[in-house]
Amino acid sequence: MQKNFSFKLLRSALGNTVVGGLALILAQGFLIMGCETGKVATTDGADSYPVTLVIHGGAGTISRKNMTPEREQEYRKALQHALDTGFSVLTKGGKSIDAVIAAITYLEDCPLFNAGKGSVFTYSGRNELDASLMDGSNLKAGAVAGVTTIKNPIQAAHAVMTQSEHVMLAGRGAEQFAAEHGLTIVDPSYFVDSARYEQFINRRKQQGTKDAASPDGPEKKFGTVGAVALDQYGNIAAATSTGGMSDKRFGRVGDSPIIGAGTYARNTTCGVSATGWGEYFIRLAVAHDISAMMEYGGLSLQEAADSVIMKKLPALGGDGGIIALDQKGNIAMPFNTEGMYRGYIRSPGKAEVFMYKD
Ligand code: ASP
Repeated sequence: MQKNFSFKLLRSALGNTVVGGLALILAQGFLIMGCETGKVATTDGADSYPVTLVIHGGAGTISRKNMTPEREQEYRKALQHALDTGFSVLTKGGKSIDAVIAAITYLEDCPLFNAGKGSVFTYSGRNELDASLMDGSNLKAGAVAGVTTIKNPIQAAHAVMTQSEHVMLAGRGAEQFAAEHGLTIVDPSYFVDSARYEQFINRRKQQGTKDAASPDGPEKKFGTVGAVALDQYGNIAAATSTGGMSDKRFGRVGDSPIIGAGTYARNTTCGVSATGWGEYFIRLAVAHDISAMMEYGGLSLQEAADSVIMKKLPALGGDGGIIALDQKGNIAMPFNTEGMYRGYIRSPGKAEVFMYKD
């Protein structure tokens, strides 16, 4: 009553427009406070934003003729599990940054993908891992590059973001930092997957002394993993983790740990995670370019993503794909390769997984 009375008085004293504006400002202030306390809910009890998670497990020559039914099942199950893992963080009221870390940690531990355990080999037969993530609510970001002993590089990227003044740490410095912050450190042999190692040895025999990173091996597949999430507070986060490209040179760093190339997130535009021939993604600043086309050009998520992946990237000679998500829960997953492991999950929580073009 008291509130109504004051409101009426105020309205007659200041006029409808001013009071209307004031009410809007107060409402926005309440919403912002609500975001901070994690208590934003619409009156009907539904989530304020359509909580969504989209993931990829790499792009390349993924086609039905190269796949056995058993193998396909393994990939489908792994992608579904990653989606369920990340989505359960979101449905419990968790933040998008934690959802992408949960999904990527699972994929890093799964040897099917070229990230964490099961990563591809450098020319000299080592595993050198890169990862990054970004929080679209404040543009904070973290990354690690060329690490060989951190079990989950995505967790190290998060530690760099939250517990250092830096955005990227590389090599031994990143490993030392991860150890100091209590992350699991493993012997480099942990990352070796025997099937992947056999492929490496066979390829080495065929290639002889050719020293060039290329996705043109018998298994023309990238295999990087990525996740983009939207939480109920409207925050978008993106993350990417990879073993990089087969036969890369010692010390080569791709797009995955580079903010703006392989990963980008901004609440007002979108979140993006990329997979593909990293050198081209760096040169085109792919992830940021998609966001910028939305911000400056007013393009929709799908238009911006298609323009970069289906036009600009092939025009330069690059290949690969991206996953992207905006604050309305729109998803884009374009790729210009034969296939891309990918999937999404949103309310009511049924994971959808795809591998091929059709
Ligand atoms: N983009 C990664 C890189 O160039 C490779 C990949 O996506 O599989 O390191």
